[in-house]
Amino acid sequence: MSETVETPRTVTPVQLSRKPGSKARGARTACIRTFGCQMNVHDSDRMRRMILDAGYAEVQSYEEADLVILNTCYVRENAVDRVRGHLGELNRLRREGRVKKVALTGCIGASSESEELQRQYGIDLVLGTHNTYELAEFVGLPTMRETYTPDLPGTEGDHSAFITIMTGCNYQCSYCIVPTVRGRMVCRPMENVLREVERLVESGTGYVTLLGQTVDAWRHGGKRFCDLLERVADAAPRMWFTTSHPSNMEDRTLRLIGDRETIVKRLHLPVQSGSDRMLEVMHRGYKSERYRRKIEVFREAVPEGTLSTDFIVGHPKETEEDHQQTLKLVEDCAFDSAYIFKFSPRKGTEAAELRDTVSADVVQRRFLEVLRAVEQNAFTGNQRKVGSVEEIYVRHGSTEDGKAIGETWSGHAVHVRTDARPGEYVKARIESAGPHVLYAGDPQV
Ligand code: SAM
Ligand code: SF4
Repeated sequence: MSETVETPRTVTPVQLSRKPGSKARGARTACIRTFGCQMNVHDSDRMRRMILDAGYAEVQSYEEADLVILNTCYVRENAVDRVRGHLGELNRLRREGRVKKVALTGCIGASSESEELQRQYGIDLVLGTHNTYELAEFVGLPTMRETYTPDLPGTEGDHSAFITIMTGCNYQCSYCIVPTVRGRMVCRPMENVLREVERLVESGTGYVTLLGQTVDAWRHGGKRFCDLLERVADAAPRMWFTTSHPSNMEDRTLRLIGDRETIVKRLHLPVQSGSDRMLEVMHRGYKSERYRRKIEVFREAVPEGTLSTDFIVGHPKETEEDHQQTLKLVEDCAFDSAYIFKFSPRKGTEAAELRDTVSADVVQRRFLEVLRAVEQNAFTGNQRKVGSVEEIYVRHGSTEDGKAIGETWSGHAVHVRTDARPGEYVKARIESAGPHVLYAGDPQV
């Protein structure tokens, strides 16, 4: 759950036949812009269903929209800066009489900064992550009484779907704003999750991803995450889960990934740092040795699997020695990919108040060193796939150059020349590889 980019939709929007920039006569239009992780993409899907139910047509540009919903991320400061840029542009469009209403939702909406943003930009509706359901009333639907957001229906009928199995987080990592904006952990009952999986599979979904900030901390009615994973793996033709926390990751879960054909063999297990001293400063609750042991179990149980992680570089108090420990961990664990973040102080977190901050040029150097080490390992790992014939799940249909983006069962991203549609499988030989992606030849028939 680590990307902080504007993320694409997972529900097919209403197709409009008019020219961009012109508004449909009579029909109300809405544009949803999503920033941040898969949880936000999933929340946007729910809001999309509400606006479509309320009779809005979805459009892709602000110029065409009566209502604009910015569903936001608050994890790093640059995410807020980007949203400010969008709010400024929306104010201009409002003055020109194009956009009528603006709603701010998601993690910024749940933060104390939202009050100032609302005043400054005259935002019409601000919703946090716990009261997304209030959008219903705003768009003219009957008031929803839901307070338990994971029970709201998720994506349906698409080739792939996200299913939130828990919200919030019970950890208190020094740098992280998530517990403040998303609250404490709430887990959804197993039967409820399974019903949703079955409903999605019946309606044609071929790939489900279980979501949660610490997805492997899920527990309910005496059952733990591994029990739920087993049941979902039985019910879905293809599945994955993210994001896991090393302290909750059980060995039996790692073995299950290797045992079950329907689970994509990719583990995303954020480590943050290779230094025990920094892991303690961050309150991560584990030492690097314990993390390494988990990775050993994973590599043994899932030899063909891929491993990714998150790092924070330049957290206050990080010394050169700590940084060297991180580089050593990269070498030992041979990650296939990693999200590397420069520390961003978030108001209200412990780390924002810490002294011994790291200067920007040192952070930049450490960032590049970790990046280079990860890319080198990833490149070596990807080269080993060259020559193998892989079954590839098409995630995004072919682009202008005729290449689709797919995923192998080992969790590698692949470019493949095919006109197969999202959700279909093709078989092809891997012909070359870069540090981030594999390149396949023409599919075999
Ligand atoms: N719950 C997950 C975990 O504990 O690994 C991660 C969730 S967090 C939304 C995604 C990633 O953002 C984290 O793993 C961390 O690397 C990064 N992150 C969170 N707060 C940050 C901050 N203040 N500055 C830089 N990176 C941060
Ligand atoms: Fe944030 Fe730590 Fe919770 Fe992850 S485990 S969401 S980093 S507080």
